[in-house]
Amino acid sequence: MADKRDYYEVLGVEKGASDDEIKKAYRKLAKQYHPDLNKDDPTAAEKFKEVGEAYSVLSDSEKRARYDQFGHAGVDPSYGGGGAGGYGGFGDFDMGDLGDIFGSFFGGGFGGGQRRQGPRKGQDIQQYITLTFEEAAFGCTKKVTVNRSETCDQCGGSGAKAGTNPETCPTCHGSGRVRQVQQTPLGQFQTTSTCRNCGGSGKIIKEPCQKCGGSGTVRVSKTIDIKIPAGIDDDQTISARGQGEAGVKGGPNGDLFVTVTVKPHKLFRRDGSNVYLEVPITFVQAALGCELDIPTLDGTVKQKIPEGTQNGDQFRFRGKGIPNLRTGGRGDQYVKVNVEVPKNLTSRQREILAQFAEESNEKNYNKGRKFKDVLKDYFNK
Ligand SMILES: [Zn+2]
Ligand SMILES: [Zn+2]
Repeated sequence: MADKRDYYEVLGVEKGASDDEIKKAYRKLAKQYHPDLNKDDPTAAEKFKEVGEAYSVLSDSEKRARYDQFGHAGVDPSYGGGGAGGYGGFGDFDMGDLGDIFGSFFGGGFGGGQRRQGPRKGQDIQQYITLTFEEAAFGCTKKVTVNRSETCDQCGGSGAKAGTNPETCPTCHGSGRVRQVQQTPLGQFQTTSTCRNCGGSGKIIKEPCQKCGGSGTVRVSKTIDIKIPAGIDDDQTISARGQGEAGVKGGPNGDLFVTVTVKPHKLFRRDGSNVYLEVPITFVQAALGCELDIPTLDGTVKQKIPEGTQNGDQFRFRGKGIPNLRTGGRGDQYVKVNVEVPKNLTSRQREILAQFAEESNEKNYNKGRKFKDVLKDYFNK
C-alpha cells in the first residue's frame, strides 16, 4: 500500500482538474485497460482496477477533499491512524459506471460483477462479398466461410470431460465473487473481488473435456449459405442471426453480418431500383427514326425511335428495373439516346451533306435567317 500511486497521476490529470476532466480521463483509461479488450496483457486488469479506484475517490467530492488533505490515508482505511477519523467504510467497489460504457459495446453483456458471470451473447462476425450486377438485381445464394467458435459437441459447452460435470466452486459457492470484510481502526471495510479459485466462473472443472480443453468451445471453419435478396445494393448488409461466435455460458450465439460490394455493369448503371442505359444512334437514325434492339435485364426489347429524336432524349421501360428490396416491385429502365456525328466523311458524303444544308436553310427553325441575326435578336432583348 505504501507505494500506491497518486490518484491524479493514475488518471493523468492535474490536481485542480474539473469533474468533467476526471470523468473523461477515467472513461478513456477504463476503455484502454478493460480486461475484455486486453486478453493478452496480464497487467491490464491491474491497471484497470487502479484506474477504477482512483476514479471512485476523485469523482466523489467528499472523498476527493479528504484525499487532497490527507492523501491515501484519508480515503483508505487500511492506513491506520490517518487524519480522517470516523468514516464508515469504502463500500463495494462501484462498477456501475463501467456498465454504462461497455453495455453499449457488448450488447449489454458486461455490467456489474453479478451479470458478468451470466450467459453472454457471442461476438458478431463481419464478412464481405462481391456480387455481379445481376446477382444483386435478382438475388442469389452465396457461400460464405467463417472461422468461428462453436459450442463443443463433446461436452455440450460445459468444458467437463464426458461423463463428468463441473462442480460448484467451494470458495465462492458458485457466485464467482468473494466478499471480504475487514475491521480497521477507521471502521468496517468491505471489498468484493473475483474468486481466484474458479476465476469468476463459479464452477470448477476437475477433468477437462479432451476436445475443447475445458473452454466449452472449439474453433471451426464453417461454410454458410447466405441468401441474397433480389434488389440488394452496393454497401448493404445482410445479417444471419446466430451464425456468429458461440455464446458464453449458454448465452445466444452472435450474428454474422455480410456486407456486399456490387460490381459495376458494362452497360447498365443503377440508381436505387432504376436502371440507366445510354444507346448511341447515328444522326440519320435520329432524323429519320428507326427501330432498335435495346438490352434490358430481361433480354432484348424492340424500341421504335421516332423521327426527329434529339440527342439526350430519354425513353422509359416500365418495370424493367431492379426489384425494390422491401416491396418487390420493380423500378424502371431509362434509355438515353446519344446521337453520334459522323467523322471521316467520304467526298460523296460531304457533297450530300452540303446539299442537305442548302435545302435545310429554307425550313429549319431559324426560318432561313442567318445565325448572326438570331444572336442580334438575343442580345437586344
Ligand atoms: Zn468440450
Ligand atoms: Zn469460486
